[in-house]
Amino acid sequence: MRLKNVPGCRERIAESEFVVPEDKLKECKGHWSEVFGNDNDIHIEIGMGKGQFIYEMAARNPGINYIGVEKYSAVLLRAVQKMEEEPRDNLIFIRMDAEAIAEVFDEGEVGRIYLNFSDPWPKDRHAKRRLPSREYLARYDKILKQGGRIEFKTDNRVLFDWALEELPESAWKADLVTFDLHSQEELMADNVMTEYEEKFSGLGKPICKYILTRKRKELIMAQLVNTNDFEKEVLECTTPVLVDFYADWCGPCKMMSPVVDQLAEKLADQIKVVKCNVDDSGAVAEKYNVMSIPNFFIFKDGKAVSSKLGASSPADFEQWIKENI
Ligand code: SAH
Repeated sequence: MRLKNVPGCRERIAESEFVVPEDKLKECKGHWSEVFGNDNDIHIEIGMGKGQFIYEMAARNPGINYIGVEKYSAVLLRAVQKMEEEPRDNLIFIRMDAEAIAEVFDEGEVGRIYLNFSDPWPKDRHAKRRLPSREYLARYDKILKQGGRIEFKTDNRVLFDWALEELPESAWKADLVTFDLHSQEELMADNVMTEYEEKFSGLGKPICKYILTRKRKELIMAQLVNTNDFEKEVLECTTPVLVDFYADWCGPCKMMSPVVDQLAEKLADQIKVVKCNVDDSGAVAEKYNVMSIPNFFIFKDGKAVSSKLGASSPADFEQWIKENI
């Protein structure tokens, strides 16, 4: 959304008590609770435009602190004017380009991110500027707390389909995907319309929406392999590989899972760590004679050089890896 430049709007924004001064933004990182004077959850909308959605959300949910982020002063000024008419203590605005969002919010500081009718940036070479791109998702990942989520609405089906394709490359999974939000009563019950949503749904365009949550951490750190990619991911790997043969129903496997993840992170520059579900990859399990699980193998240059059966203490496990790489 770009309005004609409004003379003096930058100055008016700089003076507004509802907009965080730009030179104070970095100081707020990690201190947003102090800005609001309470520990309530913080939800942000990136690219809020004139602020219709976030203003209404703040009115409906006084127990949540809202921050609206908008790049253009002329647009932001409209949101500020609404606050001047009827202020809300749980809402504040930031004028910035969201590219630097991780410099303004600390790790885990944000509970939810709303992206509403984000600019499509239709040219391929501008894909990284799209707010639901994998590059932006990585930034959101830094600032969202455990259990935090991203909600994205758009009428632009091309952008939406593209955004869904970004997900496998990111740390996020979709908990909800709908291509026609307004036809779903249960989802509409607490839907707050944005300005663009009113406009486009009024023209009869269906509204798409997704809700993302963080994938389980262990699945991100240790990549899953199966019979099809075992050769490429394990045997042809030029660094040593630890393979965790496991199954979802196996208690000791679950016990070892966080140990494996921690080591995957700690020893990331020395060994690649993958997990192989024996129920899905019977052929591989058979080839390496995996009869009981959890069973850990270290591969070097395509050969299994050591294996370790069953659960063990983190220290023993680490020592075994170090002795074999
Ligand atoms: N959310 C509103 C406005 C949608 S238009 C609604 O649904 O009605 C998209 C808005 O995002 C525009 O106002 C644009 O200026 C803003 N925007 C686009 N890219 C941005 C970025 N990188 N950082 C901050 N705001 C951005």
